[in-house]
Amino acid sequence: MSDLPLRAELVGEAPYGAPTDPLPVRLNVNENPYPPPAQVVHLMAGEVAAVLGDLNRYPDREALGLRTALAGYLGRGLGAERIWPANGSNEVMQQILSAFAGPGRSMLSFAPTYSMYPVYARDTMTRYRTEPRTADHRIDFAGAQRSIAADPPSVTVVASPNNPTGTPLGLDEVRRLHELVSGSGVLVVDEAYAEFSDEPSALHLLDGLDRLIVVRTLSKAFGLAGLRVGYAVTSPEIVDALRIVRLPYHLSATTQIVATTALRYAEELLAPVAEVVAERQRQAAWLREHGVEVADSQANFLLIGPLGDSHDVFTRLQQHGVLVRETGVPACLRVSIGTPEENEAFRRAFSAVTEPRRETP
Ligand code: PMP
Repeated sequence: MSDLPLRAELVGEAPYGAPTDPLPVRLNVNENPYPPPAQVVHLMAGEVAAVLGDLNRYPDREALGLRTALAGYLGRGLGAERIWPANGSNEVMQQILSAFAGPGRSMLSFAPTYSMYPVYARDTMTRYRTEPRTADHRIDFAGAQRSIAADPPSVTVVASPNNPTGTPLGLDEVRRLHELVSGSGVLVVDEAYAEFSDEPSALHLLDGLDRLIVVRTLSKAFGLAGLRVGYAVTSPEIVDALRIVRLPYHLSATTQIVATTALRYAEELLAPVAEVVAERQRQAAWLREHGVEVADSQANFLLIGPLGDSHDVFTRLQQHGVLVRETGVPACLRVSIGTPEENEAFRRAFSAVTEPRRETP
């Protein structure tokens, strides 16, 4: 391995990914805890069977059927020419960086945030930089303005709701950021968790802001993380730029047909969202009653802490069969919202792990 002609910045790097220990309660990657309903699974299987006989042919390179179905889901008069899907929003983001960033250019984000952003930057030979968020996890506009004026970024990305804090960005904040960055680059609002949030979507602003890209996914609220479909919603010109850097036939025929079918049953697939939101509120209230600080989340997870030695809490939760996430925010842990039973299991384990210590004078 040591004599491989690997790019210098990749030497010693590990593949990205959370631990995947097969524990009974896995609350570490913000999945929807509910699988697709049986009747939708059955319908998807029928549609897949119908395309399997054509697998000697390449799929539709432009994924027009899926883009039309996504347009139908989003409404607001958005046409297929403004939508671009790929294998997860991860791949959409990589395409955005390939098209708009690269050597000599930078990507700006606001920390703490999604830990894949520096990976997209590294892989596209883009310089990654962050501005710190305020104590309540919002954008510090004075700092952002200074940084952008001194060193204009080609791509600015902000997750709303943000991972790992769960805090959203208001529409006024999206407008302000767009004004700051649109002279030199594009603004990406990563709305992976939008369907769990009360905050209006940045999709409302697409008609006025021509450098805005809203990125979404079927992995979270739709409960289709295993399918790998995410999509950008933006201007037709930006979609055309992404089409230049995409690999031909990047979305398989089976992926396209399953996602297209799933969107016909959007209401059924999204039905658990209300329960996940109610459980998030219950979980946050319980933690606060027990003296634990919780960020104001609009997503399907909570950032909790400070917890003192959070690594010790993480390890002891694991011993109780509960897997949560260390995201690099000092003394904090992130816990996804699961089924009521899983959330209850988390509360039991958390009490067992932390209460003896809290009672010790
Ligand atoms: N954006 C954010 C903020 C995320 O937290 C995640 C998933 N953890 C993604 C994007 C990636 O989602 P996908 O499965 O669509 O690639």
